[in-house]
Amino acid sequence: MSLPYHSPLLSRLDWLDHAFMPAGARPPQEAIYNQQRHSARVILDVDALPLKSQEADGLIGSGQHPVAVYTADCLPILLADSRQQQVAAVHGGLKGVLSGVLINAIQRLCERGATPESLFIAIGPAIGPCCYELGREVTDQAQREDPYHLAGLMSWSASPPPNPAAVRPQAQGTTAGVWFDLPLLAKRIALRAGVPEAQIELARICTYCMAEEVASYRRNSHFQHGYQQRFSWIAKR
Ligand SMILES: [Zn+2]
Repeated sequence: MSLPYHSPLLSRLDWLDHAFMPAGARPPQEAIYNQQRHSARVILDVDALPLKSQEADGLIGSGQHPVAVYTADCLPILLADSRQQQVAAVHGGLKGVLSGVLINAIQRLCERGATPESLFIAIGPAIGPCCYELGREVTDQAQREDPYHLAGLMSWSASPPPNPAAVRPQAQGTTAGVWFDLPLLAKRIALRAGVPEAQIELARICTYCMAEEVASYRRNSHFQHGYQQRFSWIAKR
């Protein structure tokens, strides 16, 4: 079994615990999480019980219960506010990120006493630009609709950037599309919201070509070896 990944950035904060668990591992028993729907909805942990009774993709921790998200290729984003010692967990797929889930989570934390300068954000293992091909119709639509004016923050290339850290072959193109950098979009959203760059961390662990064999939904769709969700959680001590 692989070990959990711990963000060096969040590990510097001595008032919290967190982990990006490997695919298939369970979160702490008392962890709270939602029924995730690729939505922009962010709720408080006290409104989220019983477990999975709410459809939401962001969860603010108001007490000491860990808040968690489960992901395959989507972004697990853990947030910490050093001002009020609040934490939050966000499930960020492309659809949810474009719909404003990360923007909403930052806003909710700030409504509860954080400032952008007090936020620390770790973006965990997720599919990287090395393996994330999108049809051009997807990026066209994202630029056309764009309710949060994110078009200028989106980054992609015509061919997959080589990943020197890959432990297995990168994804092969299937749609003559583009290779999209979803973690970078999330980082740029946080930067635009005013979070200092030194307080935003990308794990840069691609679920397709670097993480556990069963970590990637997309890789499973190519090779049918099965996939298991990854839980990522954060808690105030
Ligand atoms: Zn990759």
